[in-house]
Amino acid sequence: MLGLAELAQPLQLVFFGAPGAGKGTQAERFARHYRIPKISTGEMLRRASDERTELGALVSETIHRGELVDDELMIDLVRSRLEEPDVANGFVLDGFPRTVVQARALDALVPHALIIALDVSADNLLRRLSSRGRTDDSLDVIRERLKIYESNTRPVLDYYRSRSMIAVVNGNRSEDAVTDAIEASIVRCLEPRETS
Ligand code: ADP
Repeated sequence: MLGLAELAQPLQLVFFGAPGAGKGTQAERFARHYRIPKISTGEMLRRASDERTELGALVSETIHRGELVDDELMIDLVRSRLEEPDVANGFVLDGFPRTVVQARALDALVPHALIIALDVSADNLLRRLSSRGRTDDSLDVIRERLKIYESNTRPVLDYYRSRSMIAVVNGNRSEDAVTDAIEASIVRCLEPRETS
């Protein structure tokens, strides 16, 4: 992977893809390598759902139904996280945006983020999710999450396709091969801006 010094701007990466696409794994790798925070909305929500508050209970119910947490709540959550000082040198976002409303809000907050979309076949998604063993990974809930991905989240791809800052990466490969492909995309997408 390239070194931070080779990048002329803070790396603002957004990992996009269906549940099970490998966003979390790749986000973790890039965050560690570039020493920038990984912001995972799924992890933030799971933490919130462990708290014995009214909000925690609501979030827990939503996650275990395989549904999406309310846009307004998600946008507030991500906005306040992005206001923290540690994101000044860049960040990796995992799990947000999941709706077009969230994508528009993110655009306003971070206009130059690079979107990495991981493309993974339905067969592979099902296989990965059913071997993961998280409490929201039962077969019924997985099916619901994939359905909601198709209806609410996939349209975000078309939204980003109309802009230039998206790289679609084939995620049906080994973790290392996917990491290499993402790195190549980052270089390709950021180069023109460095020289301009
Ligand atoms: P996966 O790794 O399967 O993509 P995540 O850990 O990212 O799952 O998210 C787990 C759950 O948290 C989702 O199924 C959803 O209920 C909720 N969630 C996470 N991010 C968002 C978001 N941006 N908007 C709405 N709900 C979200």
